[in-house]
Amino acid sequence: MNDLSVVDRLHGIAVGAALGDAFGMPLEFKPAVQIQKIIRTLTPGRLPVGTFTDDTEMALALAESLQAVHPLNGTDLAQRFLDWYRRGPDDIGNQTRSILDSIHRLKDWEKAAAESLRFRPDSAGNGSVMRCWPAAIAWWNCPPQLIADSALQSRVTHPHAECVSGSVFVNVWIAGLIQGKTKQQAFEQALSDVEMPPGLRLAVEQAPSLRREALANSGWVRHTLQTAAWAVLTTSSFAEAVIQAANLGNDADTGAAVTGAVAGAAYGLGAIPADWRAQLHGEWPVRSGKTWFEADLIALTDRLAQIQS
Ligand SMILES: [Mg+2]
Repeated sequence: MNDLSVVDRLHGIAVGAALGDAFGMPLEFKPAVQIQKIIRTLTPGRLPVGTFTDDTEMALALAESLQAVHPLNGTDLAQRFLDWYRRGPDDIGNQTRSILDSIHRLKDWEKAAAESLRFRPDSAGNGSVMRCWPAAIAWWNCPPQLIADSALQSRVTHPHAECVSGSVFVNVWIAGLIQGKTKQQAFEQALSDVEMPPGLRLAVEQAPSLRREALANSGWVRHTLQTAAWAVLTTSSFAEAVIQAANLGNDADTGAAVTGAVAGAAYGLGAIPADWRAQLHGEWPVRSGKTWFEADLIALTDRLAQIQS
């Protein structure tokens, strides 16, 4: 246990996730950076330096849905994801695009999810774990709702059991950190509390002892959870966790976003480098002309945190 304030940790989750996303953005789709050449600062890529991407945009859609209707309503969330998609985001995952097309066609997210499970039963991308953190901010002190809404936000676009339980796992881990457990204690508690398919459980349990070369950091939810577990548990600062995750390349922004959410809960906002925080930004809503900065993420977090009080 330590005495970081809950508020500092809650702010750390939102800012940490968005910064992990922005740090990984220029490294996405690239091979892992050689260990001697590790990149330690925010850099520009296809977007300007410090810009967050779809990982954070979809999290903001979830956050706004939770604020509007709580407990979470799948139809409201699906509508917000569709609105985001219609605005033409720079980035969208293949699985997310496909299911949002289905929701638009079928006018029913549950039918689209059932169709996805029937025709693409092995589709287990990381698109729901990358954005699940707002449910942890809203419900960290209310375990039944934390579990229910973490799972529901996944089922709307990623109904595969590994995506659903992976989202619950991340948020239960984050909730334990907010309560003041150590990184390791909270990790072990989440492993014992959250039901997971055996393959996912094994992958997550093994992650902290993997060598860097063994981390694929692909778009598979299993790989993203491995990255986050490895990066958070084998480093001792927010910055180092995000640096290690993002420098794995491949799905760098998503691996680093999940890492940033968890590390933000572990170390709090005050431990996140000030120069990184000052560079963080993104357009929200997409194509609205409005730019979001750190202060907007903090204000959003404060609104979300009021839901359970
Ligand atoms: Mg992205």
